[in-house]
Amino acid sequence: MQVRLTVLPVAFALVLGSALFAACGGAEKPAPAPASATPAAPKAPLVQKAEVADWCPEHGVPESICTRCNTSLVPTFQAKHDWCKEHSLPESQCFACHPELEAKFKSMAPKSSG
Ligand SMILES: [Zn+2]
Ligand SMILES: [Zn+2]
Repeated sequence: MQVRLTVLPVAFALVLGSALFAACGGAEKPAPAPASATPAAPKAPLVQKAEVADWCPEHGVPESICTRCNTSLVPTFQAKHDWCKEHSLPESQCFACHPELEAKFKSMAPKSSG
């Protein structure tokens, strides 16, 4: 009769052990990290500084909008209805019609070192 007394705790231990093993056996695998499909877009500065002096000293306007040096710009201004037929200049650059523009452009001119 003493055999059963010793077997019972062992059986109980086995059941308990198997239960623990089962619990541990179902170890959850680490979930794969969600792949971020968002492409990293390079951040560009909102305002780009003009590194090259964009200025036509001859006509007192930025070289990039000087229609007298770059006649290919003329249709662009004409399309924007920014054109003075009388002086063949963009209205926004016509100092004859808008003397106040001269001071405005002068303030935009790069300071010469001379
Ligand atoms: Zn010019
Ligand atoms: Zn004009």
